Amino acid sequence: MAADMIELIILGSGTSHGIPMIGCNCPVCTSDDPHDRRTRPSAAVRYGGHTVLIDTPPELRLQCVAQGIDRADAVLFTHAHADHVTGLDDLRRFNWLQQGDVQAYATADTVAVIQRMFAYIFVDDPDYPSHKPSLRMHAIGEAPFELLGRQVTPIPLMHGPLPVLGFRFGNVAYCTDCNFIPKESLARLDGLEVLILDGLRKRPHPTHFNLEQAVEMAERIGAGRTYFTHIAHELGHAETNATLPAGMALAHDGLRLEVTS
Ligand SMILES: [Zn+2]
Ligand SMILES: [Zn+2]
Ligand SMILES: [Zn+2]
Repeated sequence: MAADMIELIILGSGTSHGIPMIGCNCPVCTSDDPHDRRTRPSAAVRYGGHTVLIDTPPELRLQCVAQGIDRADAVLFTHAHADHVTGLDDLRRFNWLQQGDVQAYATADTVAVIQRMFAYIFVDDPDYPSHKPSLRMHAIGEAPFELLGRQVTPIPLMHGPLPVLGFRFGNVAYCTDCNFIPKESLARLDGLEVLILDGLRKRPHPTHFNLEQAVEMAERIGAGRTYFTHIAHELGHAETNATLPAGMALAHDGLRLEVTS
């Protein structure tokens, strides 16, 4: 990869249940197409020899092994719903590989929830002395910030009533778990080569864009290519892609995209 390029890897493209879902025999959950096997939502962004993870879902270990992710210089959290954070303990492997802390960035509200959910990591407990991840938590706001030599732009989004963050690196943005994008955030999504956007399923949902809303939003944002993620079992990969407009497709686990910075 050229030094000025950014690579985004979709580690997981599934909704909170994962696909196949436990105990479901529908055509997508029983499909032979590997694109229909979706782990919980996350991504890795690589540039300048650094790797930044976005979220730590329950399959984080399997995702990192599958995609050859061997470092995590930083983790950005979109929000603290269980499907985005419950693999957090797996970060300790990166502490060992890198011999240092992992820097973690999230809104102050998300930091507070993570510290409550994973209290064992953040409190001194003589009965749990070792084998904990070593994280340095940083509360961020809406202002762009520098991360490992590049600017990261937070994209404030609404996920039903919950404010969450998307993130833009160069000309790629990752916006999962949302059903509304404020005007100020749309301005931060100008000129994208690649957009990753929530596109749950066909039926409406109170906190996620359905596919029709996601396509409409993708057209409005006008990225060169848009990939939908956080995909439920109603959407078969090949059959849905055949119906999407040019320049749009469902993401899949292991999708790799390169953009300019
Ligand atoms: Zn199913
Ligand atoms: Zn969520
Ligand atoms: Zn989610």
